[in-house]
Amino acid sequence: MQDCIFCKMVSKEIPTEIVYEDEHILVFNDIKPVAPVHLLLIPKKHISSLSDLDEEDIEVVGRIQLKCAHLAREMDLVEQGFRVVCNCGRDAGQMVMHIHYHLLAGRLLKWPPG
Ligand code: AMP
Ligand code: ZN
Repeated sequence: MQDCIFCKMVSKEIPTEIVYEDEHILVFNDIKPVAPVHLLLIPKKHISSLSDLDEEDIEVVGRIQLKCAHLAREMDLVEQGFRVVCNCGRDAGQMVMHIHYHLLAGRLLKWPPG
C-alpha cells in the first residue's frame, strides 16, 4: 500500500535492519527500542490492524506466532521470558497502521502495561 512505512520496508524502499524474512513475513529491529530486545514482526501483506483480520489471514498470523516462538528459543529468551504485544487502535497507542507484533525481552516487563 502507498504511504505505508512498513509496506515500504517490505519493498525495501526504506532500508531496515532485517532479522528474518520469508515470503510471508518480515522481522526487523524497532527503531526506538523500549527493551534490550525489541523486534517487530509483520505480514508482508498490508493489513491495517488486528481488527481487520480475516479468515484468509489465519495462516500468516499463525506464522508470526510461530516465528515468535522460534526467535525466543534461538535468542535464548525462554527462561527469562518475553512478551508479544499487538497494539490495536487509538487507546492502545497504535501508531503505524500496518499490523505488527512487538517482541520484547531483556528486562522485567511490568503488568499491567501503562
Ligand atoms: P505501535 O505504537 O504499536 O504502532 O508501534 C509502532 C512501532 O514502530 C514503534 O515502536 C516505532 O518505534 C516503530 N517504528 C516506526 N518507524 C520505524 C522504522 N522506520 N523502523 C523500525 N521501527 C519503526
Ligand atoms: Zn502496509
